[in-house]
Amino acid sequence: MHCLALDIGGTKIAAAIVANGEIHQRQQIATPQENAAQALQQAIAQLLAEYQNQFDYVAVASTGIINQGILTALNPKNLGGLAEFPLKASIARHTSKPVGLLNDVQAAAYAEYQLQDRSQLANFAFITVSTGVGGGLIVDHQLLTEPNGISGHVGHTLADPNGPLCGCGRRGCVEAIAAGRAIEAVASTWSDPCSPKEVFERFRKNDEKATALVANSARAIANLVADLKIAMDMQKIVIGGSVGLAEGYLSLVQRFLEEMPPIYRCEIESARLGQDAGLVGAAHWVKDTLLRQSQKVGQGACYA
Ligand SMILES: [Zn+2]
Repeated sequence: MHCLALDIGGTKIAAAIVANGEIHQRQQIATPQENAAQALQQAIAQLLAEYQNQFDYVAVASTGIINQGILTALNPKNLGGLAEFPLKASIARHTSKPVGLLNDVQAAAYAEYQLQDRSQLANFAFITVSTGVGGGLIVDHQLLTEPNGISGHVGHTLADPNGPLCGCGRRGCVEAIAAGRAIEAVASTWSDPCSPKEVFERFRKNDEKATALVANSARAIANLVADLKIAMDMQKIVIGGSVGLAEGYLSLVQRFLEEMPPIYRCEIESARLGQDAGLVGAAHWVKDTLLRQSQKVGQGACYA
């Protein structure tokens, strides 16, 4: 089966044909910012026309929350003119093929899950620590996406009730302490301010302030790992994103985990897929979901 996969991010939209997990004819355009809703409608129409007759279904990984086919977010203001954009309907208008949509980090989680020994791994999570903190949860071999698309927004669980205010409006979320943006906010107030990248360079040179700041982030992620383990019996958690994959970060998370009672510990490892995880994951997930639905219909017909 050939999939037309779209990955809609805040700054760019990637499109490709995905067949057997491999990417073909990849292209990338800028996400429209001016007249965003109308311009996105046009961009979608053009992409669907370009790949016409080359796909059996469409899979979309998108930033934000996909709720009943409509794009929203924890903080809809972040989406600008794309808040409440009818993403599924905009695509379905141009094709009679099935269309499936999910959040981009949920899609990346599903892509990482394909690389694991799934028969041994019923419960699995992916956490990305980047500008923000996001995630995707797989429980009993199924990626959680229903009913409202919110599942996996683990960056907005609580790290410190007295912590900084988070972009979502709540105080002390994991994201407000661990994310690249949070690291930047603190480092910019230093007498010798620096970028998050430089914070990590100083951390690797054992600079005291930088080490404490990175440790704060890693401790929040270790606690998040422990919370996911104890809440959902996670067997393995993969960590990605520019902060999550920074040299020395994962071993720090590991160290904080080892300080906890054994029941909170969970196997962690680095994410393996890069920028195309969303495209590949969405293609896999929509195919698996469509197959499951057609099997259900088949069973129903049998019993009728
Ligand atoms: Zn939050």
